[in-house]
Amino acid sequence: MSFNALLINRSEDKKITSSLETLDESQLPEGDVVVDIDYSTLNYKDGLAITGMAPVVRSYPMVPGIDFAGTVSESSNTNWKVGDKVILNGWGVGEGHWGGLSQKAKVKGDWLINLPEALNTYQAMAIGTAGYTAMLCVMALQRNGVKPEDGEILVTGANGGVGSFSIAILSAYGYDVVASTGRPQESDYLIQLGAKECIDRAEMSEPGKPLSKERWAGVVDCVGSHTLANACATTKYNGTVAACGLAQGFDLPATVMPFILRGVTLAGVDSVNAPTAIRQAAWDKLAETLKPEVFEAVVNKIALSDAIETAGKLLKGEVRGRVVVDVNA
Ligand code: NDP
Repeated sequence: MSFNALLINRSEDKKITSSLETLDESQLPEGDVVVDIDYSTLNYKDGLAITGMAPVVRSYPMVPGIDFAGTVSESSNTNWKVGDKVILNGWGVGEGHWGGLSQKAKVKGDWLINLPEALNTYQAMAIGTAGYTAMLCVMALQRNGVKPEDGEILVTGANGGVGSFSIAILSAYGYDVVASTGRPQESDYLIQLGAKECIDRAEMSEPGKPLSKERWAGVVDCVGSHTLANACATTKYNGTVAACGLAQGFDLPATVMPFILRGVTLAGVDSVNAPTAIRQAAWDKLAETLKPEVFEAVVNKIALSDAIETAGKLLKGEVRGRVVVDVNA
């Protein structure tokens, strides 16, 4: 049976091309579960893969798409049966194994998790990898004992996908959230999401001192580099900084002072290879914490045929909010 998918190819002279193709099911990669996909999303990483701007893809041809939600249509894995509603994030899907920008995917059943009952497949992808990563960050703060009464939580890269969801989740849990952003014109949106105050990201992004005045009980950092160093330097005694991103840079020009003098914890967050139990817990918490109107309001829904053009816009910063791809439109 044939299906539509986005396909990335690399020519002998290493030129990357992406196109919408009709493929046959026999071309699907190895796996023990076939999923009929309803929705995928476009993330920054997908943009890099589709445009060939960075070496995200590890083998060609590749179907991009680091996440998807849909229904199991074939399974030889005892954990899954035909008709099960499932989500997949990460595990190198869309990079080393064909991904979600397709009407069908064949994957390892161990990579799948149950779609929580409170969500439909569209809502799951409106949350997507960004929302799931944000929840992993919040869980890292909670695991380290950061409570709402401990004080303010800083979220950097606030207008981005992970930042926006972090604000919404933290505020739903009763934390006071301060949003750091380079787009002050979007402050109303951030306040609407649940931030109590917005600060200019320039306050955080320049080289700073090893230690500065303590302010944050916790931090969700999507930005890395000097911003992460300054976040650590301004975190209160025994506070926790959850680091998940590198929008400013992958360097960390910091000292050990916040860790050895203030007991600050730097908690790394990885969504790609997180164990299944943690993934399922994160998705279940997302389903019970977030109101659909919060995340549906930030979604741009596009058809599979629009994904290539939108990937280019995404990399140029011309897209606000989440991009959900209806692979059957
Ligand atoms: P987005 O591109 O949606 O958002 C990133 C935000 O960072 C921007 O909206 C902007 O926020 C801010 N930003 C951009 N450039 C700079 C800069 N030069 N200096 C300071 N701030 C900047 O990305 P996502 O929210 O999807 O992801 C955030 C980060 O987390 C990315 O680096 C991504 O690669 C990473 N990530 C990591 C995961 C993991 O498993 N660890 C999973 C998912 C994402 P504003 O306009 O408000 O300033």
